Amino acid sequence: MSKYETVIGLEVHMQINTKSKVFCECSTQFGAKPNANTCVVCASQPGAIPILNKKAVEAIVKTGLALDFTINKQCAFARKQYFYPDVPKNYQITQSEPPLCSKGKLAINVGGKEKVVNITRIHLEEDAGKLVHEIGGRKLDYSLLDLNRASVGLMELVTEPELSSPGEALAFLTELKNIVEYLGTSECSMEEGKMRCDVNVSIRPIGQKELGTRVEIKNMNSISGVRDAIAYEVERQAEALKSGGKLAQETRLWEAEEGITKSMRTKEGALDYRYFPEPDLVPFDLPDSFIEDLKKQLPELPKIKKERFIKGYGLSEYDANYLISTRTIANYYEDSLRFLQDKKAAAKPIANWISTELNAKLNASKIDISESPVSSQNLAKLVSLILSGVISGKIAKTIFEEMYEKSSDPEVIVKEKGLMQISDESAIIKICEEVIAESPKAVAEFKAGKERAIGAIVGLVMKKSKGQANPQLVNKILLEKLKS
Ligand code: ADP
Ligand code: MG
Ligand code: ZN
Repeated sequence: MSKYETVIGLEVHMQINTKSKVFCECSTQFGAKPNANTCVVCASQPGAIPILNKKAVEAIVKTGLALDFTINKQCAFARKQYFYPDVPKNYQITQSEPPLCSKGKLAINVGGKEKVVNITRIHLEEDAGKLVHEIGGRKLDYSLLDLNRASVGLMELVTEPELSSPGEALAFLTELKNIVEYLGTSECSMEEGKMRCDVNVSIRPIGQKELGTRVEIKNMNSISGVRDAIAYEVERQAEALKSGGKLAQETRLWEAEEGITKSMRTKEGALDYRYFPEPDLVPFDLPDSFIEDLKKQLPELPKIKKERFIKGYGLSEYDANYLISTRTIANYYEDSLRFLQDKKAAAKPIANWISTELNAKLNASKIDISESPVSSQNLAKLVSLILSGVISGKIAKTIFEEMYEKSSDPEVIVKEKGLMQISDESAIIKICEEVIAESPKAVAEFKAGKERAIGAIVGLVMKKSKGQANPQLVNKILLEKLKS
């Protein structure tokens, strides 16, 4: 492989997060009954007039602003001619030149190294309908057409051919998804087809300027699939070149189960789509104030949030990375902190509870943190009970189980079950004396110089107190007793 280098360019389609479609008022709701969300416009009836959804333009401009794009004030649409069985009008309304956004960039981090990837454009276009070949698991010998998705607004983002490994492609898509989710301009859910990706891959001898012949892998619907498909394709192309073959410029499909790409059609040069200005949508200029207002609406983006978490709360880079990995985790974290007086002291323990205990439970039950049965306020209460010494960390874990199962308030659990930590010295002294009397062997070992034997004794005291004795006090008292 070392003779070649890999060149990758991505075309990413993201469904714009608007209630209605981009050129009509039909709903974009996912999972509606076939053709329930249609009208004369999105069902391509002759003479129906498209009307542009302002919110869709806002979403694209916002996304462009967040990714350092130049916003082109001229907003114009074009018809892309094609025979689409799932678009009865046989053209797609899209943007040619200019797209709404030109020349953006996104920094990715792979193996601790930062790389800035240039993004060619983001433009607005409409989605196609869907051909149905199966109903309730029964294969049909004819096609049905569902137009619910027709004319749903998409933003298409196209990168320069600058990514150079499967890992970089994965990092790019993960970072992009994260930023777009923060912006709320697309839900990016790949399972629901709200983010799809075409991957262009070629290889070339190291040192060669010209790009090699590219293969386009269409309609990838998972980020790990993109990574695996590139890895496979790079190997396949290298094998072909090594054995003296030539590569065809073609479109291939990723067969996830087999882990291979298969040829779909060859593609010699660019297809002529006969773009021409869309006569039903008159070009217009976006007012400066429109763009300025959107700039002001941009939320705090993940990178900035991460810096604030590190500087403001004294978190490690590792913790901060975890917390900003989705907007919902970051929100939950800050919501929890809002309930606590001493934020500096609580910052790290709250982060730990979220990334370990809570994360494990949510993963197991496949619930997003925004729907967590443990509210951010209840987590804050739990951590506050630990920090103030009312309960031990060990008891806290048992309490947490119940909090997750029943969404209960930890203060109520502690009161009802009497789980308060025992910090009353005389009570602890009594238990320590009992345990010392019952464990002559461990005591003898300790006295013979085996310092570690104290661990076993502490354990017995904790057990006898049902985990409620204050561990610092137990240690102190045991040492006093055993050394005297
Ligand atoms: P099309 O619309 O026909 O797919 P584009 O020229 O718009 O063609 O390119 C699409 C994507 O392919 C872009 O992301 C671009 O960076 C990438 N690309 C172009 N040439 C190559 C190549 N030789 N190797 C890898 N990626 C490429
Ligand atoms: Mg393409
Ligand atoms: Zn419609």
